[in-house]
Amino acid sequence: MELGRPVSSRRKLKDLLLHRDNHFCADCNAPDPKWASANIGVFICLKCCGVHRSLGTHISKVLSVALDDWSEDEIDAMMEVGGNASANSIYEAYIPEGYTKPGPDASHEQRSKFIRSKYELQEFLKPSLRIVSGKSSLQSNSAKSAMDSFRSTSTSQRMEGMVEFIGLLKVKVIRGTNLAIRDIKSSDPYVVLSLGQQTVQTTVIPSNLNPVWNEEYMLSVPEHYGQMKLKVFDYDTFSSDDIMGEADIDLQSLITSAMAFGDAGMFGDMQIGKWLKSDDNPLIEDSTVNIVDGKVKQMMSLKLQNVECGEIELELEWIPLDQ
Ligand SMILES: [Zn+2]
Repeated sequence: MELGRPVSSRRKLKDLLLHRDNHFCADCNAPDPKWASANIGVFICLKCCGVHRSLGTHISKVLSVALDDWSEDEIDAMMEVGGNASANSIYEAYIPEGYTKPGPDASHEQRSKFIRSKYELQEFLKPSLRIVSGKSSLQSNSAKSAMDSFRSTSTSQRMEGMVEFIGLLKVKVIRGTNLAIRDIKSSDPYVVLSLGQQTVQTTVIPSNLNPVWNEEYMLSVPEHYGQMKLKVFDYDTFSSDDIMGEADIDLQSLITSAMAFGDAGMFGDMQIGKWLKSDDNPLIEDSTVNIVDGKVKQMMSLKLQNVECGEIELELEWIPLDQ
């Protein structure tokens, strides 16, 4: 415990970190971020922290959640933004369709490019909120200004064209089985997932028709979420990548049952919903939604469509915004 400061303000920061959206880096979704940008108001991982530092403190003031000495003002600014989901709903509101956010294993270059686009150039902010018209405006506390102008925008303006997120979807791409051959004897498969305007992609696994990824990705779920699109591609160095099948994933059973139950932590392990196999969906068998250790999860095995063969196994988890 530190001296000279009310315990409660440090406590507020710890409580904010407990919100589920703050369990993953705001920039690359790496689990368990231990750093924060005090002026932007996001929790970030060590690798992204390195990039934030390189932007300079006039853009991002990085502090360790556990080790650094936070001022009251810094903690208040953090509280005001409200955490990663809230900050990202502004800083990533206008991510172009098909844009791939870096994942936890992204290279330094990919990470750096994204973080600069997001905070320094503010490319994904609603155009009217951008404050990069003159260089000098960058000297201002950019996040707070963006947040303030966001708040001062009238509700009707804010709704227009602005994506409101209702929760987060964690998708674990587990494995592929018996995938189609696209090269001479094998394929170099990777999976692309899209929801709304967001797209994430797994690593490429060379020469493998039964690849095991076990990679996790986070997607923000917009209010009108629609289906999540999954596509498998064969990575090709010399020509454009060949498609190896696709599947449309219905999220309704997961999200409606999760919302109906509210705080899943209050319930023991149980089944709460089901997406039924049918002729017009890619399910190999019925896919149940379950509460497991206080989390809402759904396993699914999918038969890839528009391709001769191939199956993909996924695990979805619903993460509500305020818990
Ligand atoms: Zn990160």
